[in-house]
Amino acid sequence: MTDKDSRYRFLLEKANVRGVLVHLDQTWSEALSRAEYPPNVQRVLGHAMAAIPLLASTIKFTGKLTLQAKGDGPVSLLVVQANSQGGQRGLAQWREDPPAGPLTDVFGQTSLSIQIESGRGEVYQGVVEVVGEGLQDALANYFEHSEQLPTRFWLHCSEQGAAGMLLQQLPEESRTTDGDEDDWQRVVMMADTITGDELYQRPPQELLSKVFSEDEVRLYDAEPVRFECNCSRDRTAGLIAGLGREEATEILAQEGQIEIICEFCNSKNVFDSIDVETIFRGGDQSGTIH
Ligand SMILES: [Zn+2]
Repeated sequence: MTDKDSRYRFLLEKANVRGVLVHLDQTWSEALSRAEYPPNVQRVLGHAMAAIPLLASTIKFTGKLTLQAKGDGPVSLLVVQANSQGGQRGLAQWREDPPAGPLTDVFGQTSLSIQIESGRGEVYQGVVEVVGEGLQDALANYFEHSEQLPTRFWLHCSEQGAAGMLLQQLPEESRTTDGDEDDWQRVVMMADTITGDELYQRPPQELLSKVFSEDEVRLYDAEPVRFECNCSRDRTAGLIAGLGREEATEILAQEGQIEIICEFCNSKNVFDSIDVETIFRGGDQSGTIH
């Protein structure tokens, strides 16, 4: 039994390669429970949920990291988000179940965006081209162009859980040994032998020492990850304010109340006519905290 819902950084010191492994158990089942996802929508969402903590581990940030695709393909929207404290959430919307790949047949003519919002309101946005069979290929391509560091991803998901691994060549300045020219190719080849089930089932120490038996693996302490949504009644009130008084009043007249369900976590916020009036008068919402 491994500690699920954890991320593990590791170092293949002699090969000058760093790595990250992630196991999602509860985190994945919570995301999965929000909708009746068709099999290949579930697949791409699972891969994205496994990829986001890997991506987060490569970037120093203190706010939110979002990976998003919006397109005209069978999967119309995919959004996964991680914060710097190990919380993550994700959802997908679809027109029909896509094929398993290539990625252009999943999302259509579009690109994925990577957005980093620092806690201080600064935003960095990167574009991930939709290339290859799956997210792992598109992300590897992104790193090759943006960071100029050879980086590879392995992603897996099933009904039970999701898992992922990242390998990245260390930049020159971080290397402690000379290593061999072909070290990178060699470790990637070894990593390619890992099956999806192994990636998810095997305890990290056991998996890594088996696969990278020629290398000394330095495995760092597990970092917990969890499903976490940052929706709140205040944010939802902001959405209603965005509708404008006229439209909000119209919905109230028809429905008697305004009900907003968070698509990430299914939590429901209900606003009656008094709440709505308070929003448009700019008053506080303190009477009815979710
Ligand atoms: Zn939520």
